[in-house]
Amino acid sequence: MQPRIVEVRQGILKKNDLLAHELRARFAAAGVCVVNLVSSPGAGKTTLLEKTLAGLAQQGRRVAALVGDLATDNDARRLERSGVPVRQITTGTLCHLEAEMVDAALAGWPLDELDLLFVENVGNLVCPASYDLGENLRVVVLSVTEGEDKPLKYPTIFNAADLAVISKIDLAAAVEFDRGQTLRNLQAVRPGIEVVELSARTGQGMGSWLQYLERLEPAALQPGVAGSGRPGPR
Ligand code: MG
Repeated sequence: MQPRIVEVRQGILKKNDLLAHELRARFAAAGVCVVNLVSSPGAGKTTLLEKTLAGLAQQGRRVAALVGDLATDNDARRLERSGVPVRQITTGTLCHLEAEMVDAALAGWPLDELDLLFVENVGNLVCPASYDLGENLRVVVLSVTEGEDKPLKYPTIFNAADLAVISKIDLAAAVEFDRGQTLRNLQAVRPGIEVVELSARTGQGMGSWLQYLERLEPAALQPGVAGSGRPGPR
């Protein structure tokens, strides 16, 4: 039975990739840059997004967010406070977002009125790695409280990311975070990956993160360039 199970799984991934390809083309045509945030639960995706949406909106950027969780719309309600459009995707028992859910959640949204759309994936370092959502940029968030060896334990998701954000750096001393070891582990699984270190709570490093997002946009808007530079499983 084993080979048959593998075939079915490959079939689901292929269907997802086709739809993700369509989404990527639609995002490019609308001139919207899409950022997929992945991490383990509790790494600080929602807090980071809360501050990011507020910061970008303040700069006059047109931003919105889709938020994935197994249950509750707590994160969407938190993010709505930043005053930008937010939609929650509730996945039920599913441990990741799929292109189909993003497609459905976007129904009726005027994409061409947006500059940046953030997708907060379900907190999980395994399954989201395999599902392309048509994003331009995949960001993996790793908090200082999680342990320096996370990249080594979950190489697939770190390898499939374009940028690593080390979050909660205000807690680094309290948890005796080994910054050097973490950076070495990140480079070991994804050589050359850019890293931004920040604390969404204190604001430290947030300027670099917002600048990174500013730099990203023009390149991602060029047709044919969007989504093509990322290594990892597709
Ligand atoms: Mg969250």
